[in-house]
Amino acid sequence: MSTNKSKVVVIPCDSYDEEKVYNKLKAGLAELGGFEKIVSPEEKILVKPNFLSAAPPEKAVTTHPAVLRAVLRLLSERGCSNVKIGDSPGHGSCEGAMRMIGLSEDRIYGAQLAPMSENVHVDFPDGITCKEFDFCKEVVESDAIINVCKMKTHALERITGAVKNVYGFVCGHKKAAGHVKFPNDTVFARMLVDIHRYTHPRIHIMDGIIAMEGNGPGAGTPTPMNVLLISEDPVALDTVYCYLVNLDPELVPTNSQGCRMGIGTDKEDEIEIVICDADNDESSIQTIAAQPEAESNIQANFHIISRQELFYKYGNSSFDVGREIPKNTFLMKYSNFMTKHARRPVIDEEKCVKCGICVEHCPVPGKAVDFKNGKTSPPVYDYKKCIRCYCCQEMCPRHAIKPVRGLFRKK
Ligand code: SF4
Ligand code: SF4
Repeated sequence: MSTNKSKVVVIPCDSYDEEKVYNKLKAGLAELGGFEKIVSPEEKILVKPNFLSAAPPEKAVTTHPAVLRAVLRLLSERGCSNVKIGDSPGHGSCEGAMRMIGLSEDRIYGAQLAPMSENVHVDFPDGITCKEFDFCKEVVESDAIINVCKMKTHALERITGAVKNVYGFVCGHKKAAGHVKFPNDTVFARMLVDIHRYTHPRIHIMDGIIAMEGNGPGAGTPTPMNVLLISEDPVALDTVYCYLVNLDPELVPTNSQGCRMGIGTDKEDEIEIVICDADNDESSIQTIAAQPEAESNIQANFHIISRQELFYKYGNSSFDVGREIPKNTFLMKYSNFMTKHARRPVIDEEKCVKCGICVEHCPVPGKAVDFKNGKTSPPVYDYKKCIRCYCCQEMCPRHAIKPVRGLFRKK
């Protein structure tokens, strides 16, 4: 059935077995027309994973290598010979992150590493919230971008998925300035949406086989969600992620702003969820996987599924993600009571090794976290300066920083 709705393909997948992931991804992409509809062989293609930092795959910090290998293999089978893969991590290098997850070959199915370290300034007069960017050179040079994101929680935006993943297009050392310029979840989300409006990734693939819940995006708990999601609409894809974890999609600023600014929809009646149930359709996936790319328009046993049925069969209501309703901003500003309850980053002094990475990454002039008591003691926050961007929490290598509500913080 063809509709004007944004289609989100959900593929149950319970392991990172490379052949299995490849087969399932191929079948799922075929439901959207396959890479033959999405890219041309002569195009310069950038595959954009989530490489937040160099972490082993089992930590669920990065897109899993099995998913990335499957994407690169399918692009190679499509005949694409000018493919790069890269992300600009907040800390460390793209090469280091790839090596950590075992992607250390010179070429993977013909694709080359994109170092993502050279900065190019671009003007974007049509930007709604952001009219200029400092992108990595490879982003500007590419004809087509494939966004291969990870299902994780996020301290600022509640979740990181298809919409948030594009912040990796901004060169690592330029990321901090973006947090100062766009200092709350809503304007930051609007800036991310402008990145989508400039770069137009062609397709969004989410690795949700092992997701991250809790203190994400770098220090949360790996938890199986056993799904891959694919869509041309990044907002619809993130909305379906919300359905799976019982989170109101409208509480996620990247969804609400993405919808308002026209890159997709978070409205249930505008999204069509299709699924190939793992239990009874394994054989149809095998059939599709066996087809050459040119014949991959043969339909697997995908069928439309309701939000409720999707959650009933594949959802996780105890997934640890921020579900709190935001307080009225007027009250937040003028009520001392509310201010005391606001979330803020807190350092666990027992875990802290005083490395100073949080201080280094704090984007606020004069630093909102610093070694006020010397480098033999953990850094100390100045909450009057802190803009709650959570760069410190994202970058702490010891997972020593957590967002905590005011009244319950340690100090
Ligand atoms: S980054 Fe983490 S471990 Fe390092 S000083 Fe900051 S809180 Fe401590
Ligand atoms: S202290 Fe942390 S949360 Fe606050 S502004 Fe600095 S990096 Fe952002």
